[in-house]
Amino acid sequence: MNLLLLGPPGAGKGTQAKRLTEELAVPQISTGDMLREAVKKGTALGKEAKSYMEKGALVPDGVVIGLVEERTKAPDCKSGFMLDGFPRTVAQADALGTMLARQGRKIDHVVAMEVNADELVARLSGRRTCRTCGTPYHIEFTPPKKPGICDKDGGELYQRDDDKEAAIRQRLTTYDAQTLPLITYYAQRGLLRRVNGLGSIDEVYGRIIKAVR
Ligand code: AMP
Repeated sequence: MNLLLLGPPGAGKGTQAKRLTEELAVPQISTGDMLREAVKKGTALGKEAKSYMEKGALVPDGVVIGLVEERTKAPDCKSGFMLDGFPRTVAQADALGTMLARQGRKIDHVVAMEVNADELVARLSGRRTCRTCGTPYHIEFTPPKKPGICDKDGGELYQRDDDKEAAIRQRLTTYDAQTLPLITYYAQRGLLRRVNGLGSIDEVYGRIIKAVR
């Protein structure tokens, strides 16, 4: 199954994607995680991406399209994949369609996670991420057992630079301007499954499974 998770920053795409990979037996492909990894390693790509990410702007289409194309060819994507945070522009969606057609594949479902703006800001400003495994927490809603420490691997939890207030606002503006048009784009292609992103992680998870099964 080839799945795409669409939604504003803070909608819970990463959290749900991590759980869905087990249920659906397909890997999560998060362009945000891949870019953060490149920044951490200080690669040429990471150096290029860093300034855009810090501002809450999008990294140029060509950079992320190349990353995704490479990743979808890996052996673990043979029986499908779940894209989280890509595509984010109409140009990326067009490139994805062309890339998949070339590989003889297609998208099965686009899950659009819907959450209002006030809730998004509350979620993002309290978000903490494990430095080693990337597991997301929330200081109020889903705190770790020990403050500042990941339950899974004991890694340090940190606040992403782009989860600070000015960058959050910019990311939401970027989403409305550049990514929101994809809702119509995929609705017109009969692929859109709207899911209410409010409620517990389990509730939202159940809605997604129902939408794709
Ligand atoms: P995320 O973890 O998905 O919220 O992504 C964090 C940041 O990485 C975004 O604010 C962008 O700067 C960059 N990014 C992630 N995915 C994409 C994409 N598909 N296109 C352009 N920039 C991206």
